[in-house]
Amino acid sequence: MEIFIEPIGRLMNEFGKLPGVGRKTAQRYAYRVIGMSEEEARAFAEAILDVKRKVRFCKTCGNFTEEETCAICRTRDPSVICVVKEPKDVAALEKLHEFKGVYHVLHGVISPINGVGPNDIRIRELLARIGEGTQEVIIATNPDVEGDATAMYIAKLLKPLGVKVTRIAHGVPVGGELEYTDEVTLARALSDRKEM
Ligand SMILES: [Zn+2]
Repeated sequence: MEIFIEPIGRLMNEFGKLPGVGRKTAQRYAYRVIGMSEEEARAFAEAILDVKRKVRFCKTCGNFTEEETCAICRTRDPSVICVVKEPKDVAALEKLHEFKGVYHVLHGVISPINGVGPNDIRIRELLARIGEGTQEVIIATNPDVEGDATAMYIAKLLKPLGVKVTRIAHGVPVGGELEYTDEVTLARALSDRKEM
């Protein structure tokens, strides 16, 4: 016999799909939902449906947006472009309130082991953005093997175009992720960036 009646087991299965949520946590979450008012539960479910309905990728930078072009691309200095792996890296850097330029989200890094080549991430779109007004491209992929290889690959493509290409400094622990780097360290890594 199942321990949990069907609707509870089903909700637990859904929570279990979230990163870092094991069986026990899923049970706790499901019980909490049972304790919600009808209104709270509806707001919760609506919020999930809403991100699926409204969130899309900025056609310029690839970050999350509700519009065709995101607020950062619409309002900030386009002469400096910071290249990152994922949207969550934009969030990590934005928390610093230091960077005044725009971003370019690659949606991945080059990884031969995982069958990800240069054409599978948004490198072509990055090249298309480089123009007369581009002063600097800061490559802020994670300081691991794949992040470094991707940075090197991009630098090799950009340098012949006469663009200054920099790499964030190794304040970010080697093998670490931007997302989990404290803000002081990340701010220093950004300001101490080195030309490639
Ligand atoms: Zn954008």
